[in-house]
Amino acid sequence: MPDNQIEEVKSRTDIVAVIGERIELKKAGRNFKSTCPFHGEKTPSFMVSPELQIFKCFGCGEAGDVFAFLEKYEGMEFGEALRYLAERAGIKLQRTQFGESSEKEKLIEINTQVVRFYNYLLLEHPVGAKALEYLEKQRGIKKETIKEFNLGFSPENSYALKKFLVDKKKFTPIDIEKAGIGIARGTNLYDRFNGRVIFPLFDHRGNPIGFAGRVLPWDKRETGKYINSPETPLYHKSSVLYGLNITRGFIKKKKVAIVVEGELDLISSWQAGIKNIVAIKGSALTEEQVKLLSRFAPKFILALDSDFAGDAASRRGIKVASDIGVEVKVAKITGYKDPDDAARGNIESYKKDLIGAEGVYDYFIDSVFSRINSESGAGKSKISKEIVPIIAEIADKIVQSHYANVIARKLGVPLEAVMEELGKIGVHSETGQPARIATQSVAGGARRELLEERFLTLAFQSDPKILLSKSTAGLITIPINKRLVEEYTKFDTKKAFSVTEFGEKLPAELFQGFSEMVLSDNQNLLENPDELNRELDLVEKELKIHTVKEKLKLLASQMRDTEENGDKEKLLKAQNDFNKLAKSLSGYEEEDGGGVILRDIE
Ligand code: ZN
Repeated sequence: MPDNQIEEVKSRTDIVAVIGERIELKKAGRNFKSTCPFHGEKTPSFMVSPELQIFKCFGCGEAGDVFAFLEKYEGMEFGEALRYLAERAGIKLQRTQFGESSEKEKLIEINTQVVRFYNYLLLEHPVGAKALEYLEKQRGIKKETIKEFNLGFSPENSYALKKFLVDKKKFTPIDIEKAGIGIARGTNLYDRFNGRVIFPLFDHRGNPIGFAGRVLPWDKRETGKYINSPETPLYHKSSVLYGLNITRGFIKKKKVAIVVEGELDLISSWQAGIKNIVAIKGSALTEEQVKLLSRFAPKFILALDSDFAGDAASRRGIKVASDIGVEVKVAKITGYKDPDDAARGNIESYKKDLIGAEGVYDYFIDSVFSRINSESGAGKSKISKEIVPIIAEIADKIVQSHYANVIARKLGVPLEAVMEELGKIGVHSETGQPARIATQSVAGGARRELLEERFLTLAFQSDPKILLSKSTAGLITIPINKRLVEEYTKFDTKKAFSVTEFGEKLPAELFQGFSEMVLSDNQNLLENPDELNRELDLVEKELKIHTVKEKLKLLASQMRDTEENGDKEKLLKAQNDFNKLAKSLSGYEEEDGGGVILRDIE
């Protein structure tokens, strides 16, 4: 792939548009901002610069260009991101080095063929006829739904798979084993899913990453009802959300995600018109799943048929959800054993159950009280041991005390007792804290660094011409910042300042610092020129005081030297200079009632 094609793709792509399709961006001065998709936070510190075509999170440090974003956010590899962006921009890529696929892409290619193969056997071939009849007649799944979800059938005899994949498509048994579909035996291949109905599993972008196989009711083999792909480079059980590739648009639109357990729960609900839905394929809602799903909706309704309150992984998932501000509710399905039954039995009552979902902490409390008898002392203690740690993880203290009250009431004990138990549990939340640059007790060199960066940031975000003025000359002294000012002086300063052009001219070691200055969020100041000027004045003044103090220190040491040497003339001059400077310093400090305090920098 010639470099100029990568450049062409980049130049015809707008990072703001690409990121904006995935997360909600708000204008912030010359940049756009959002809460960060890569770490949990409630206050936005994720910034995107249209001028520099880069993003940076000031909370977790993730940063880069549009390729880096897609690699991190969508899990794409570079070649994949390039092809995606090229297609988006309508550019035809010449297939050279990036035409060769990586291992992951090879496995996706194998899976794609297998999805088609199994789907064909189910829908078109006599070998799948009985399975098709079972799905349609007994499970009530329509043909269009089978097509939508690419359901398939794997024949009992593994020979057909081998003939198709190895003999016809020329994949090696080893690669097929890597994809998790078969087990290689020399040149032979044993089909892991044989004799089962196949539910292909896709990632949220629609890449086939694995399979689930469900036994047919007449299958007398002693195996589990479902088998899944083993962990492969593509398939990671804990992060799969079944159906998301098809339902993500509906979830985004409704701003709610219904979460069910199994493939059939999802398919039946979908067919009955509940389309903003995903299945977690098991009973644990993991942290990875929560993070992925929270990109699409701020609210989840869990309609799980088993009691997941006792499951540690699920509790961790719920905590992550509440840390990143996702509202989680739990629906109890009434009258039916699971969402699949309910969707086929009485869709109206099922919908009512979903609408009537209760808060997840109410659910946890109900669950523990329904399992353990709260009458006896031992029972009370057991309940407290299970529920208090869960309540302790609620970050919002008001919500927490509400639930402490509920528990105290249900246990028939004073609120203080529950609060005391809560107090025993140290709560340390590692997520949800916005990053802050410490502004207090930063002394000497660090303070100067902070002031210089602040000054340059405000200058580059508003009008850097201020850097050319006489009054600011000599204020910037840290070498890397000084170089930045020098680069600006060399830059064409007659035209209106272009961040893009200036950024392109900068050497790499200066670009890093410059981009952070341009990306930091100063929306309020930029929208308010008076405030901006006041802030600039304050920073400028404090920098001057700093500079004077540094000079005074230097003079003082010179004076000590000359006193020892006995050079009277030199000493007199140094004393004179010192006095003048000291006077100017007191002038600065009096003006503002002594000292200038740099306001909070966030
Ligand atoms: Zn972040």
